[in-house]
Parts: sequence; structure tokens; C-alpha cells
Amino acid sequence: MDTPKTTCDVLVIGAGPGGGSAALHSARSGLDVIMIEDHSEIGTPVHCGECISEVAIKNLELIIPDSVVSRPVDGIRVLFPDGTAKKLSEPGYVLEKHLFEQWLAEEAVSEGAKVHLSHKLTGMEKTFSDGQFSGWICEGKGEQFPIQAKVVIDASGVGGVCSKLLKLNPRPKVIAGMQYEMLEVPTDGYLDFYIWPNYAAKGYLWMIPKSNGRANVGLVTEDKKGAVKSLDRFIEEHGFKDLEIRNPPWRKEGVKVRGFGGTIPISGPHEVTHTDGLMLVGDAAGFTSPLFEG
Ligand SMILES: Cc1cc2nc3c(=O)[nH]c(=O)nc-3n(C[C@H](O)[C@H](O)[C@H](O)COP(=O)(O)OP(=O)(O)OC[C@H]3O[C@@H](n4cnc5c(N)ncnc54)[C@H](O)[C@@H]3O)c2cc1C
Repeated sequence: MDTPKTTCDVLVIGAGPGGGSAALHSARSGLDVIMIEDHSEIGTPVHCGECISEVAIKNLELIIPDSVVSRPVDGIRVLFPDGTAKKLSEPGYVLEKHLFEQWLAEEAVSEGAKVHLSHKLTGMEKTFSDGQFSGWICEGKGEQFPIQAKVVIDASGVGGVCSKLLKLNPRPKVIAGMQYEMLEVPTDGYLDFYIWPNYAAKGYLWMIPKSNGRANVGLVTEDKKGAVKSLDRFIEEHGFKDLEIRNPPWRKEGVKVRGFGGTIPISGPHEVTHTDGLMLVGDAAGFTSPLFEG
């Protein structure tokens, strides 16, 4: 690999919630931090139901501003096909998650971290000094490369770039998640989770209320190909039928209205989550729904 153009103590790969949090905490500890993000903008496209519990916010040592919160919620209600339901009260928030991730990155920057967008890690090799491991030289697309870092934190999401490049872990098993933003959805301030296998095989459906009557209505299912059809059928057959679907606020105007989603790792934590100068966090480590307390 080439000689480094940029050096740092900690290189964070990916500016999602895992990366933003890692960059913020590393910078708060006085380390010289660089966070790179493949996309040209942080936080979009959103691939999340956008819920976060009060406990998770406390654990992350964050004081989130009102501007990133869509609305507070009182807990979750689990609904079963026989019509029964169970309410679990625990305060939390539904975020405008793209704004939350942008704010996290800004917080990291205010603590001294540097953020480079449109920078993609494509290769990494260990470096040694006097026969001792001294860090990683990282290659990629973006003007800051090659980057020499004492520690790399892989927060690249379910794709897990470092696991792939270093052959650390096998690809995780994933399920598909898919949702629509809907309008004028009735709510009493609880998140509704439907354990209805007829629509979501080995998964569940949800109605996550947001501000001004908006809601994320979606599902996770093992049936990746059938996810959209199953969600459409659920909407058609269960009280959401006449409600309007629209694009989420982060999507550009004029784009055809459609849902949004992604995949979720379900194999559990990866076997290797750390090695010399390398730490995997969030989805890259197989830690499912870190925001939502797993
Ligand atoms: C439909 C759906 C609903 C969900 N709902 C919730 C929920 O309500 N609450 C909750 O807590 N969790 C939820 N989750 C899970 C949650 O979205 C993820 O666990 C969370 O986003 C993982 O954060 P992360 O920072 O690990 O990875 P990501 O958010 O995936 O961020 C990874 C970042 O790394 C970047 N990247 C990838 N490769 C590279 C590279 N080579 N170089 C540079 N950058 C790179 C990506 O562009 C991305 O920005 C949901 C998931 C789905 C799919």
C-alpha cells in the first residue's frame, strides 16, 4: 500500500448511529478522530423505524435536541392475531433519524473529530514498527486516502466492510425490513407491534407514530422477496387502507412515492468483534437494533 497521506488515532468507518457515537466518544476522550462516510450526505437514505428508548439515550450519554425528535412515545403495545394485546410502558422517542445522525456527527466535530463524506474504505493492511503492531494503513475512494490509523472502528453497517476485507467473519443471516410513511394515523402514543405470522413470517409488523399524524408502518420478515406484497396486504386489510402514503421528508421532491427499508442482521454478535487495533460496532458487529436496546 502507498505511504499515508493522513494520520489519526482512530478511524471510524461509517457515519450511522454506531459510527457517530464511536466518533463522539473517542473525540470526547481526547483522541484524534477521523470518521469517513461512503455517501455524500449523512443519514440518508433512512433504513430504520426510528425508535430509540430513553434508556438507550442515557447509555449513549447523549442529550438529544428537540430538533432531531419527531415525537416522544410512552412504550410499546404488542398485538396478537386473536385480538389480544399487551402494553409495555417505557418512555422513548421516535426520531427524525437522518437529523439525529447529522447531529451526532456535528457533536463529534464539535469535540474535534474530522468527518469526510464520499470516502469509502476498500482495503486495509496492518502496519508494524520494530516488529510490533502499530496500526492500519487504509485505502479507499476519497482524497484523504491512504489513511494511517492506530485503531479502526468498523461501523459500516450490515455490510461489515472490515469483516469482508479481512475475512474475519462469515456474512450474517439477515431479514428484510420495509416501511411506508403514512398520514393521519390514529395513535395513543404507543408503538404498535403486530406479531402476525400470516403477514410477517418469523417477523412482525409495526405502526410507529411520528409528529403531525405521520407514522412509519412497516414489517420485518424472512421472506425478502414478498416483503412489499405482505406489507401492502396488511395495509389493505387492517385499518390503514384509506390513509395516504407519502415520501419521507428526507427524500427529494418529485421522486415517485415508495417505501424505504433495509436488512437487519439476525445471526447474533459476530464471532470476531475485535482484534489488533480493530473494533466492530453496531450492525457491523451483528449487534441488532443497538438504538432500541437490541
Ligand atoms: C426497516 C428497519 C427498521 C428498523 N427500525 C429500528 C428502530 O426503530 N430502532 C432501532 O434501534 N433500530 C432499528 N433498525 C436497525 C437500525 O437501523 C440499525 O441497527 C442501525 O442503523 C445500525 O447502525 P450502524 O451505525 O451500525 O449502521 P448503519 O446505520 O447501517 O450505518 C453504516 C454507515 O456506514 C457507511 N458505510 C458502509 N460501508 C462503508 C465503507 N466501505 N466506507 C465508508 N462508509 C461506509 C454507510 O453508508 C452507512 O452510512 C431498523 C432496521 C430496518 C432495516
